[in-house]
Amino acid sequence: MSLTNKLRLPEPIVQAIINDTYTKGDADFSVTELLSPPQLARLRRDHASESVEDASDRIWSLLGQAVHSVIERSATNKDNIMSETTLNTNFNGMKIKGTFDSLTISDLELNDYKVTTVWKLIGGGCPIEWEQQVNIYRWMLEREKGILVKQAAVIAIWRDWSVREATRRTDYPQAQAARVEVPLWDLATTEAFVAARLALHMAAEPQACSDEDIWAKPSKWAIMKKGRASAVRLFEDQAAALDFMGTLGSGHSLEYRPGQATRCESYCPASAYCAQWQNDPRNKGISSVADSLFS
Ligand code: SF4
Repeated sequence: MSLTNKLRLPEPIVQAIINDTYTKGDADFSVTELLSPPQLARLRRDHASESVEDASDRIWSLLGQAVHSVIERSATNKDNIMSETTLNTNFNGMKIKGTFDSLTISDLELNDYKVTTVWKLIGGGCPIEWEQQVNIYRWMLEREKGILVKQAAVIAIWRDWSVREATRRTDYPQAQAARVEVPLWDLATTEAFVAARLALHMAAEPQACSDEDIWAKPSKWAIMKKGRASAVRLFEDQAAALDFMGTLGSGHSLEYRPGQATRCESYCPASAYCAQWQNDPRNKGISSVADSLFS
């Protein structure tokens, strides 16, 4: 992978990105890779030497790593805390590597720290990908260290939290950070889940990414009112939108808002090599923040 610096970010930031010491070593899969869409993981592996990323697209990842470096300090001279601990486990002929953030031994509590957007939590409980990740670490801890975690939580640090939104909305996180309880699976369920993910990744041809994989947002029909910037109401179905508009007075119009493939558009490191995305009508040909600024 090579790194560009189209925004001319200062050298210390670029070097901090380059000096990322993480490596999968001799493992076949990392836990993160196992949870990622099989097509994405395969393309990334096959095109590892040609891939190009811009430093500006790695800033959030850098901030996440900064938080983990700080949390690592918590274990200094504390026998009760295991932090940033790497586990390797052999399962179904494959070596899986995972690094959990912290385990408090007296409580048998596993924690993962995430610097993320508040929108991950609004309208729902623990996101399923957090639940899957933490339960795999729990399964690995039991397999490799004989430690059975009794409770688990993600400590979410909101990178886009707004005090204004917190006072305005009741479904919005009320502080800059939140403890999100992770439902624990029984170990047999986790093992079956890992086996299924391995099978998907080992298939001769990886399956196409699903709507869920690409973080698809559906097309919408917006009822607009003259003199108002935001939509009066949004519909996924054109006929329903037209019916509703018929009940309104004059000065209203219908606006089509095309759907999005958010991951392909902005977050997939393999999008340049992906035939599915190249042939997707939602593809407008912009692949990164830097490209969008320079195009
Ligand atoms: S570009 Fe989209 S469809 Fe292609 S691998 Fe990435 S997420 Fe999947």
